[in-house]
Amino acid sequence: MGFENKRVAIVGGGLGGMAFLNAALYTGLKNVQLYEQASQFGEVGAGVNITSNANRVLDAFGLQESMTRKSSRQLPSYMEYHNYKTGDYVGHIGEFSKPPARLLHRAHLLDSLKERVPKSCLNLGKHLASVDRNTTAGSAPYTLRFQDGSSADADIVIGCDGIKSNVRRDMGLGDDPNYSGQVVYRGFVDYKDLPAETAQLLRKTVNFRGPKRHVLILPIGNKETQTDRAAVIGFMSEPIEAWDTEGWMARSDIDSLHEHVREWCPAVQDIIAGLRKGSPDGKMLKQALYVRDPIDKWYEMKEGGQKDAGIILLGDSVHSTLPHQGQGTCMAIESGIALATVLRHWKTDNLEDAFKFYQDLRKPRTDRVTQTSYEAGKLASSDSPDEMDKSFNPDALMERMKWIMEYNVLEDLRVKGADYLDFQDSRL
Ligand SMILES: Cc1cc2nc3c(=O)[nH]c(=O)nc-3n(C[C@H](O)[C@H](O)[C@H](O)COP(=O)(O)OP(=O)(O)OC[C@H]3O[C@@H](n4cnc5c(N)ncnc54)[C@H](O)[C@@H]3O)c2cc1C
Repeated sequence: MGFENKRVAIVGGGLGGMAFLNAALYTGLKNVQLYEQASQFGEVGAGVNITSNANRVLDAFGLQESMTRKSSRQLPSYMEYHNYKTGDYVGHIGEFSKPPARLLHRAHLLDSLKERVPKSCLNLGKHLASVDRNTTAGSAPYTLRFQDGSSADADIVIGCDGIKSNVRRDMGLGDDPNYSGQVVYRGFVDYKDLPAETAQLLRKTVNFRGPKRHVLILPIGNKETQTDRAAVIGFMSEPIEAWDTEGWMARSDIDSLHEHVREWCPAVQDIIAGLRKGSPDGKMLKQALYVRDPIDKWYEMKEGGQKDAGIILLGDSVHSTLPHQGQGTCMAIESGIALATVLRHWKTDNLEDAFKFYQDLRKPRTDRVTQTSYEAGKLASSDSPDEMDKSFNPDALMERMKWIMEYNVLEDLRVKGADYLDFQDSRL
């Protein structure tokens, strides 16, 4: 049974939409099309950390080799913490579980997610304007209307169009995202632009904890492929009134980040100097961090009693989270395999039951990640970091996050889906 032959339309070709498309191909959904507004695939110039829980899924898709080729290797610890002012080491936490975390450029992860996808599934330059809920007999349940005047029919629509989701708004969920109180500065430093000692330190994932601010370094890529760089993520508290652009992302002067960390330790000053060397116009990416409150219902069903048509959300459109546990993409990857498995292997033709199963499987976990990521941000940028250094407890920090990394969504689907999913020809 299931919905393997239904026309599935994915709106949004970011990491979430592409993860779902990979899951759809892996599980054997036969009629899937992805619509992305941009004229070509691209990701913001930044690093990303993909942890064990999501790598388990990507490895099942066969992407381990492709990702490892582009990721940093043999990280000596999961995260090392340093005092912002003295630069002193205050502790570290180790790897959580296997497969280990992979740190790479976001564009390289997108490349891996594109590798196995037939071009015939990908539709670029398609900005979704609205979704028609058709009522005429014989017409498709849904028609996607794009800004270029074109359209596409679908039975099942998956909104993977990010935190400002049009699909979500079109479902009547008009709530506004909340400003977190923090902006994030993002850029890269080439290791050759750093003094040797600082370069060596930043070959590890390092977190400089400061007052209501912290600077996180992800060592992405590797020497063999000449992709190794220190990805800089500076979380700074700024009032939203100071934000000078309509969008949430802009190019900002590196000076603006420097203002926040002028009194910080020499290694952080080296990072600022390295950023300047690598940026001819003296600018870097700046993004205001928003998050949405969890919602009760992630889907809507086609009115008029049709049991096998509906619209559902996945990724930042429904479970966005602050990035303090590095989980937004990882959650979208987990949700992707969960939704694709449910659509492909559901035992009956009742889509609402299938959607509900997916939501019940995912929502408690993604809600908890949203809540704990908010708390993790408070811990990372403490009001009194000097006090916290004294009581810093890496074991407690690890304990806080273990449940995220040790989780196996494939196993959860097997166990919780035993009565509802037909696993006969499943690769799970
Ligand atoms: C500073 C920072 C660091 C982060 N670090 C990590 C990390 O280390 N690990 C991790 O797991 N997560 C991390 N995240 C979270 C991660 O970036 C997001 O959770 C993830 O990118 C969400 O993917 P998405 O596909 O749901 O949304 P998006 O990435 O926003 O993609 C949405 C896509 O939809 C398209 N789109 C939008 N509207 C339309 C439309 N109307 N029609 C057609 N297409 C449309 C967009 O062009 C885009 O391609 C971080 C986030 C931030 C801000």
